[in-house]
Amino acid sequence: MSLMLRVVALLLFVVSSQSWAVNSVKGVRIWHAPDNTRLVLDLANAPSHKVKRLSNPSRLEIELAGVTSLNIGAVTGDSPLVKRVYASRTPSAATAVVIELSFPVNDSIFSLPPSPPYGHRLVVDLKAQRAAVSSATVSKPAAVSSLPAQSAPQSTVSTRATGRNIIIAIDAGHGGQDPGAVGPKGTYEKNITLSISRQLADMINKQPGLKAVLTRTGDYYIHPNKRPDIARQKQADLLISVHADAVQNRKAHGASVWVLSMRRATTEVGRMLEQTEQHSELLGGVGEIIKDSANERYLAQTVLDLSMNHSMVTGFEVAKEVLREVAPIAHLHKKEPQAASLAVLKAPDIPSILFETGFISNYNEERLLKDSGHQHKLALAMFRAIKRYFEKSPPADSLFAAHKNNGRSVPTVMPTTQNRSTAVASSGSRTHKVKRGESLSRVAKQYGVSMAELRRHNNLKSDNILIGQVLRIP
Ligand SMILES: [Zn+2]
Repeated sequence: MSLMLRVVALLLFVVSSQSWAVNSVKGVRIWHAPDNTRLVLDLANAPSHKVKRLSNPSRLEIELAGVTSLNIGAVTGDSPLVKRVYASRTPSAATAVVIELSFPVNDSIFSLPPSPPYGHRLVVDLKAQRAAVSSATVSKPAAVSSLPAQSAPQSTVSTRATGRNIIIAIDAGHGGQDPGAVGPKGTYEKNITLSISRQLADMINKQPGLKAVLTRTGDYYIHPNKRPDIARQKQADLLISVHADAVQNRKAHGASVWVLSMRRATTEVGRMLEQTEQHSELLGGVGEIIKDSANERYLAQTVLDLSMNHSMVTGFEVAKEVLREVAPIAHLHKKEPQAASLAVLKAPDIPSILFETGFISNYNEERLLKDSGHQHKLALAMFRAIKRYFEKSPPADSLFAAHKNNGRSVPTVMPTTQNRSTAVASSGSRTHKVKRGESLSRVAKQYGVSMAELRRHNNLKSDNILIGQVLRIP
């Protein structure tokens, strides 16, 4: 996520006279970029809020429980998204912050726990539903070349959405002189990780809206510190590092997923802030503007802190999806994402996870990890997890977001199983290509399955289906 061109308005005075107030707003911070705006409310206690999305004019009304009164000064600056921010009373006499919008936007509102120097926060992310065209924007490459040609979208019933590809950096652990862990039968971790990573990249590249980049494509060494840098150069939305575990105890077995630990993240942010040349890179171009400000360090810290929180939340959510997909096909060593201080997870600005595919030190798992059918299943589990996460939370300017806004799921191109019989069961063996005049209910009837099943199996958000769409039949 590239954040914020301008920092505006530290405003607001709180008049909290009632002693029974359970919460208060201590400040409002707001950042504007051409196609997104982030507003942060600093609160005395963990916020409890309700959101109403209202129209005429478009606005968000955020009701804050326990806040008795607030007084917001003028919000200055020229956000293309936000017209004004003001305090209001709801009909039930609750205090609310109202954000009046220039046009309807996608919003994401979430709270963050204290993390020094900040206390409790409520973050309001507003994103333009279409990417703003601005030369000042540090934008992701709009790689739509892999999409079929489109014709006059407005005139056809099934509007074909456009948007950039979501970029997934896949990092095959180890390589070259570093074999990684070595199994009892002599299997090298570096070969397993590359093979699984390549299969995952193939699946991702077949899916419209996703694009894979591999940090290494062959058997050579890259320092773990360099791997996040490669992901950053490729403007990756997610970094997924693939490994296999090894311990003395040959009985240890199972997969696990690791995410960046808060302690490591905080240290990394501090370290990177010491290196001025890294600022602009990390802040997606805002570094230069910030450098001239008197509050440089504080602001840079703020921007990175927000970006880091986004990365950590995303990493954790993706990790949970991966565990959910892997559970049916492999033993889980740990059922919850584990926090780690690993070099490859160090990037505070890129959501990163590390997938330990199993224990190469375990006889049975060494055999499994070498098996191409099992490798395929592991890659497929990661692919499904990534796809589902980004269907739920797509970047605003992505093809996935465009489909989500149209109320449709992204056309699914399920990876072929390439005569690997072991993989057939997990990827579904029946598909149906939608023909003219067919409805979801008709397809359901034809195969004797329920519409709910069909929807769930294909991650459909609604009953709308497109001609040519391929449905997986449960
Ligand atoms: Zn490893």
